[in-house]
Amino acid sequence: MEIQPIGYVKNELKKPEHVKNAGEIISKIVIDKKFESGLYKIEYQKFIDVIFHFHQSGDFDLVGPIFTGETRGVFASRSPRRPNGLGVSTVRLLKQEENILIVSGLDAIDGTPVIDLKPADFSFFRQNNEDDDLPLHNPRFNIEKHISRGETKQLLKMAGQIHGHFCPGLAMGVIAAVNGMQRFKQISDGMEKILAIVETNNCFADGIQYVSGCTFGNNGLIFKDQGKNAVTFATRNGKGFRIRGRNDLRQTIGRLFPEFETLFDEVIVKRNDNPEKQKLFNEESRKASFGMLELDFSRLFVTEEENVKVPPYAPIEESLQCDECGEIFMASRGKNRENRNICNKCLNVHHPFLDGYGIHCT
Ligand SMILES: [Zn+2]
Ligand SMILES: [Zn+2]
Repeated sequence: MEIQPIGYVKNELKKPEHVKNAGEIISKIVIDKKFESGLYKIEYQKFIDVIFHFHQSGDFDLVGPIFTGETRGVFASRSPRRPNGLGVSTVRLLKQEENILIVSGLDAIDGTPVIDLKPADFSFFRQNNEDDDLPLHNPRFNIEKHISRGETKQLLKMAGQIHGHFCPGLAMGVIAAVNGMQRFKQISDGMEKILAIVETNNCFADGIQYVSGCTFGNNGLIFKDQGKNAVTFATRNGKGFRIRGRNDLRQTIGRLFPEFETLFDEVIVKRNDNPEKQKLFNEESRKASFGMLELDFSRLFVTEEENVKVPPYAPIEESLQCDECGEIFMASRGKNRENRNICNKCLNVHHPFLDGYGIHCT
């Protein structure tokens, strides 16, 4: 076995001795430049496991005293005198400055070689409430964190907050968007850097909007009224890929969630609004949507690279007051006639609108 350090620790601990207040000690973990890109998206981790080498402790004792005086076996202690001299600490990540991580709680001395880093996983123990506190500097922090960890279940739960119910369509949107966003080396900040082009205005589109952050309101969402369960994600250089539901999607859902399929036909297609049936349908729909998260991506979607013609950033338009109705309107949505500003509404101009039937004109 051959191990090469990825970096080293820099802090005030100069002597190898037991540290009582590790939680208060601030350390820098300096990562070798050649491994720096391995830190991509690490800022979304609150806690990191640091694996390091006890480079100053020579031999090992299988049984010996620990710092309290109690005798224990080496594997029942955190003693540095171990057969393989490896230390593991879970630290809090305070800040990242390029190849340097600033952490608290690392009980390793100055100069300690670092072998590996990984996100600490408390998922087996934790009742997760951390979504309650949104950091204001990046309102999408929790969403990006779940994307980078592939936590589709969390994201589906959260997407349900805007969609109002859980259904396979919403789950599909979440799955597609997680896959899409994971391919980009940048995050979505609602400023049109990442665009989502959706081809349907159904449940799928809400999963896309929630996870990708490309929305109707921030112009990151482009709607092509083609009635297909498909979305193309692209960055401003036009490099993108289209993710489209497989042709046998309906059959897959029907086969895996037959109760959902039957109730869908009764409650949604035939509009049978019996409240008991409705309740049962909601339950089956929820089961099916979370069940879909367990499926392989390739069972649901086909992906192709695509070059996208990226529209310029949305214009910032002048606001005018209509001389007919007195309301304020965007300059492009009206005309100046005989020195009077008139809005499209007062001009009786046909305007397109979007509803459940797609885009049409008045
Ligand atoms: Zn839905
Ligand atoms: Zn008007």
